[in-house]
Amino acid sequence: MQYEEILHRCFRCGFCKLPSDYSDINCPAYLRYRFESFSPGGRMWLIRAWLDGNIQADARFQEVLFSCATCNNCVEHCIFPKFKDQLLNAFIAAKAALVDEGRLPPQVRDYLTRLLEHGNPYKMPRKKRGNWASELGIESYAGQEYLFYVGDVGSFDESGARIARSVANVFRKLGLSFGILGEKEGSDGNEARALGETELFKHLAERNIDVFKQLGVEKVVTLSPHGYNALKNDYPELGGEFQVFHYTQLLVERLPAIELPDSPDFAFPRKATFHDPCYLGRHNQDYESARQVLDLLPGIERVEMKRSGADALCCGGGGGNFFTDLVSSGAETAAKVRVREAADTLGADMLGADKGAGFLVTACPVCTLMLEDAVKSQNLDGRIQVREISELVAEQLF
Ligand code: SF4
Ligand code: SF4
Repeated sequence: MQYEEILHRCFRCGFCKLPSDYSDINCPAYLRYRFESFSPGGRMWLIRAWLDGNIQADARFQEVLFSCATCNNCVEHCIFPKFKDQLLNAFIAAKAALVDEGRLPPQVRDYLTRLLEHGNPYKMPRKKRGNWASELGIESYAGQEYLFYVGDVGSFDESGARIARSVANVFRKLGLSFGILGEKEGSDGNEARALGETELFKHLAERNIDVFKQLGVEKVVTLSPHGYNALKNDYPELGGEFQVFHYTQLLVERLPAIELPDSPDFAFPRKATFHDPCYLGRHNQDYESARQVLDLLPGIERVEMKRSGADALCCGGGGGNFFTDLVSSGAETAAKVRVREAADTLGADMLGADKGAGFLVTACPVCTLMLEDAVKSQNLDGRIQVREISELVAEQLF
C-alpha cells in the first residue's frame, strides 16, 4: 500500500487526535465513537494489522476507515514531522484498497453509486444543474474573467443553492466579471477522492478539465472549499492548471472598494465567531480571508472560539460524511460540540433573545448545513444564528 511507512513509524503517542493545547478531542471520528480504533493512531494500528493479514476487512473495519472526515487535524498535530504528511494519504490509500475489493459501508456504496450513475449524489439530471440561478439571469461562461464553479451542494441542495445565489449577488454588486457552467458543470470529485474512489475522481475531474479548457477558462472561483481544494491541489496532476480562488479571497480584495452602510440592519454590534472550514484552513492554510471579510463589516465584533485556525474542530461533514452520516449521527457529534463551543464563546444568553443572538459564521455550504442542523437539534436557535459569510455580506449590501 502507498504511504505505508507512517504505519510502522508512528509512536502511538495520541497527540494527533487533539488540538495543540491537548485540551479536548479534535478528531471528529474519535469524538463520535470514543473507541481508540477510530482515532488516527488507532486506525493506523488497525490498517497495519489488516495489511499483515491479522484482521479481516469486516464491517467494523470499514466503518473505522470511512468515518474519517479528512479534517487534517491529525496531519496538523502529529509530532513526527518527517512522516506526518503521509497520514491522511495512508488513510485514503487504505480506503482505496477497500473500494477495489468492493468492501464498503452501505452508505458509502450508495453515495458513490449515485455519483457514478447521475454525476451528482442528489440523483438530479444534469440539465437541472443551473436551476439555482434561473431567476438571477446569470450569464453562461463565455470568456468572462472568472468561471464561478458552484459544485453539487450549491447546485442541488436547497440551502446550498441559497448560498450560491447569495455569493452570485455579492459578485454582481462588486462588479465581478463572471459566468457559470450550468449543465456543463460536473461534480468536482473531492469527496470521491477522499473516499478512495480514485478512478471515479479522475473521471469527474478530467471531464471538468476538458470543459474548462474548451471554454478557455483561466480563473476559477469556487463556492465551496471542497471544490477549491480539488481544483487547486488535485486537478493540476491531471493536466488542469487554472488559477483557483475561494470566493472569500475575491471578497477580501474587492469589498474595501464598496461603500458599506454605516449602520447595519440590526440594533447594536453583534458578536460573530468564525468556524474554519477544514478545506480552507488546515488543507489550504487560508485562515485569514474570511476573518478579514468579517472585520470589514460594520456592526460586527469578531470573537474567537478556543479552538480556531489550525486547532478548529471540524464540523464532521468532510470525507463524504455530509452524505454518508457516519460521524454526524448520535448524541455527541463534532457539529453539536462545535455549536455549543460557539454559543459559549458568543455568550449570547447574556444578551437576551430580545436583543438578538450572536452569529456563528462559516465560509462553506457543507459546514453551514452541518452547523445549522446541530443548532436546531439542540434548541440553540435563540442563542446563535449560523450564517454563511456571503449571506452576512449580502445582508449589509442589499
Ligand atoms: S483526518 Fe480528522 S477525522 Fe480523519 S483521522 Fe485525522 S483527525 Fe480524525
Ligand atoms: S501524533 Fe503522529 S506519531 Fe503520534 S500517534 Fe499520531 S500519527 Fe502516531
